[in-house]
Amino acid sequence: MENYFSGYRCSICKREFDPSQVQYTCPYDGGNLDVLFDYDAIRHRYAMDDITSRVNYSLWRYSPLLPVNDPGLPPSPLGNAGWTPVFQPQQLKAALGLSDLWVKDEGRNPTASFKDRASAVVLARAMEIHADITVTASTGNAGAALAGMAAATSQKAVILAPRTAPPAKIAQLMVYHAHVILVDGNYDDAFDLSINASREFGWYCRNTGFNPFTAEGKKTAAFEIWENVLSGLNLSQQPLNIFVSVGDGNIISGLHKGFKDLEALGWLDKMPRLFGVQSSGSAAIANAFQAGTEEITPVKADTIADSISVNLPRDGVRAVRAARETGGSYLVVEDAEILQAIADLGRNGIFAEPAGAACLAGLKKAIKDGMTTPCDPVLLVVTGSGLKDIRSAVKAVGEAPVIEPTLNALKNLLEKM
Ligand SMILES: *Cc1c(COP(=O)(O)O)cnc(C)c1O
Ligand SMILES: [Zn+2]
Repeated sequence: MENYFSGYRCSICKREFDPSQVQYTCPYDGGNLDVLFDYDAIRHRYAMDDITSRVNYSLWRYSPLLPVNDPGLPPSPLGNAGWTPVFQPQQLKAALGLSDLWVKDEGRNPTASFKDRASAVVLARAMEIHADITVTASTGNAGAALAGMAAATSQKAVILAPRTAPPAKIAQLMVYHAHVILVDGNYDDAFDLSINASREFGWYCRNTGFNPFTAEGKKTAAFEIWENVLSGLNLSQQPLNIFVSVGDGNIISGLHKGFKDLEALGWLDKMPRLFGVQSSGSAAIANAFQAGTEEITPVKADTIADSISVNLPRDGVRAVRAARETGGSYLVVEDAEILQAIADLGRNGIFAEPAGAACLAGLKKAIKDGMTTPCDPVLLVVTGSGLKDIRSAVKAVGEAPVIEPTLNALKNLLEKM
C-alpha cells in the first residue's frame, strides 16, 4: 500500500517542511502543522468508488488518504476505530422541527469516544517510527484511547491527566494498564508537563493540537459523513450543518481538513458548514471567533463538560477558521443547557457524556437565533459515551426511586406517578 504523505505546512507562516524535518509544531512560530498530500497522485491512482467500495469497515478504509499505512491488524481497538453509526433520531427531529437530522455516535468507538480516531493514527505512526513509549496529556478520553490501543498492540503509553478527571475515565486508564499519572492541576498543566517529559525522556508525544497526526485521524469522521450522509443528500440547496463540541479545537479542525481533502480531490459537492459549540465556562475559541480575530486569549476554564474544559486551546487558530471558512459559527452554551441536552439525547436512545451532548445544546441555540433554519439538514457529532461520566448523568436525569420488593409498594408508587 502506497501512501501519499508529502510534508507539512504551518497554518500560521505557511512554511513547508519535509516529513523528516519536523515532528510536532512549526519551529518558527509554534503554529499547528497541516499534513500535505500529493492529491494528483491519489486522484491518478484512485477513483471515488475505489475508496467507497472497500470492505474495510473502520477508519482504515481511508488509508490512501492518511499519512500512515494501514497497520493491517486483526480486529482490535486500533484496527477497528471509526466507522461509527449514523442514524436519524425521529423524536428529536420532530421536537426540533427539522426536516433532516442525523446523529453520528462517536461513543461507539472502541474506547467510547471520538479520540480513538486520533490515537489510532498516532499509534500507527509510533509503530512506523519505532517509538518505544508514547505519552499524552488528556482530560481522560485521549488517554483512554491511547491506553486501550497501546495495550492491544503491546506498546507502552504514559498518560498525564488531571486528578479531577471523572472517576470512570481514570478507571478506564487503569484497566488498560497504561502508566497513569494524575497531576494536581488542570489539563493545561498536564499538557505542558507532557511536552517537557517527551523532550526530557525522548517519548513520542500524542498531544492534541501538538502532534499533527491527531487531526489526520479525526478527519476520517468527515470522510464517513461524506460517504454515509452527503452522498444521499441533494445538496443543491442547503449545505449540511454540522454541530460539534470544541475544547482544544482539534476535532473541528480535523473535520475541516477531511472535507478540504475531499474538495482537493474533486470529490466533494458542497462544503458543509461547521458549527463549534463551547461551554460558557471554557469559550476561548468562541470568544476569538466572535471578536473576528485568530488571536486566542486564554480563559480560566470551569465547566461540567470536562472533555472541553481547557484554558488555552492548542488548535484554536484552525478551529476559528473551520467555522469562518465554511460559513459556520460558534455557539456558547451553559452547563445547565448541556445537562438538559444529555436528558434529551437519552430520550432518543443516545447516552452522551457532557461534551458529547453539548452539540445539541448548541443546535438549539442556533435554531433559536436563526443561524440554522428548519430546512437545513443537520448532523450532530456526539463525541463521547455517557458511561464516561456517571456523576453528570445523574445530575441530568436524577436517581430512580427505591421500594420494598412487594406488589403493594409498587402500586403505591405507581399511584403517585
Ligand atoms: C476531546 C473531546 C472533545 C473536544 O475535542 P477538541 O479536539 O479538544 O476540540 C469533545 N468531546 C469529547 C467527548 C472529547 O473527548
Ligand atoms: Zn510557522
